[in-house]
Amino acid sequence: MKKILVTGGAGFLGSHLCDRLIEQGHQVLCLDSLFTGSQKNVEGLIKHPNFTFIKHDVVDPINIENVNEIYNLACPASPVHYQFDPIHTMKTSVMGALNVLELARKTGAKVFQASTSEVYGDPSVHPQPEEYWGNVNTIGIRSCYDEGKRAAETLFFDYQRVHGVKIKVVRIFNTYGPRMAADDGRVVSNFIVQALKGEDLTVYGDGSQTRSFCYADDLVEGFMRLMNASDEVVGPINMGNPGEFTMIELAEKVLRLTGSTSKLIHMPLPQDDPKQRRPDITKAKQLLNWEPTIALEQGLEDTIAYFRKIVTP
Ligand code: NAD
Ligand code: UDP
Repeated sequence: MKKILVTGGAGFLGSHLCDRLIEQGHQVLCLDSLFTGSQKNVEGLIKHPNFTFIKHDVVDPINIENVNEIYNLACPASPVHYQFDPIHTMKTSVMGALNVLELARKTGAKVFQASTSEVYGDPSVHPQPEEYWGNVNTIGIRSCYDEGKRAAETLFFDYQRVHGVKIKVVRIFNTYGPRMAADDGRVVSNFIVQALKGEDLTVYGDGSQTRSFCYADDLVEGFMRLMNASDEVVGPINMGNPGEFTMIELAEKVLRLTGSTSKLIHMPLPQDDPKQRRPDITKAKQLLNWEPTIALEQGLEDTIAYFRKIVTP
């Protein structure tokens, strides 16, 4: 049994990860400020003897003894939420990284960083391999998130070089699934909630921009494969589903799968919204034998079933 700290463990991805780690018989410490996460996401675990919830902000130092592994997921991921208090978002990424790295240095724990495809910005190379250095605006409304995550990657590699800390860095591409908050603001949950409520689906811009959508279970499997791979496999490594869809295609799928008669309305495209996004997952396939197994329609059906239970028309 390992003692595993999951920061952001009460969030969408973090709660799925906690479920899997508990299933495997580990002791799990779920640390979260509950900024975008919710204790509801981990309500099935709260009474489990191997599970502990710690309300804490990663901006403040973390003092825990004898940790074996740390998954650092704490950070708002939806543009709406990370732009709400952009200074705190930057602090969460940078000081959060410093605090988990210091904990890893003191305890000898392996430490995993949930980085993002946003480090590629609005990419001029398509699809994006890990070698691409990105095209990021340093001063725009997305920069608090993109640059915070880039700085966190830098800190991870410097702690590895300077202190010999064992690191693992994954670059996550858009991931969706049950337990996204109904007010998360990202496109998949927005479209599903709008369709179920009979409201217009809000397509930003002309809807020709593309994204690649990975189902949460596939991604969490990839996280654990990376953490359990040999110490030389440090990343950064892309994880996502290479299927690429326009936002119009996504809206049409959601309408068909929900049976909704909602209409599409166009809203202004947010500043610096990337035009296209698709992972090159060659490395994950080669090094971890990992690739997604759940197609978009199947994952959407499961996600719609989840939202049907919590959204009233
Ligand atoms: P989420 O918003 O559901 O989860 C983030 C969790 O972190 C929440 O529980 C929130 O309360 C917590 N948190 C935020 N700031 C904190 C702080 N300062 N201290 C402690 N806890 C804090 O989002 P998610 O989709 O589950 O994302 C999890 C991680 O994966 C994030 O680091 C995100 O950047 C990364 N990521 C996600 C995606 C995706 O598509 N889901 C894509 C790229 C990267
Ligand atoms: N988007 C949209 N309608 C919404 C929410 C988002 O058309 O209600 C678009 C958004 O402009 C972007 C894409 O969907 O082009 C993905 O947005 P999301 O916020 O999910 O993630 P990110 O932009 O970080 O990839």
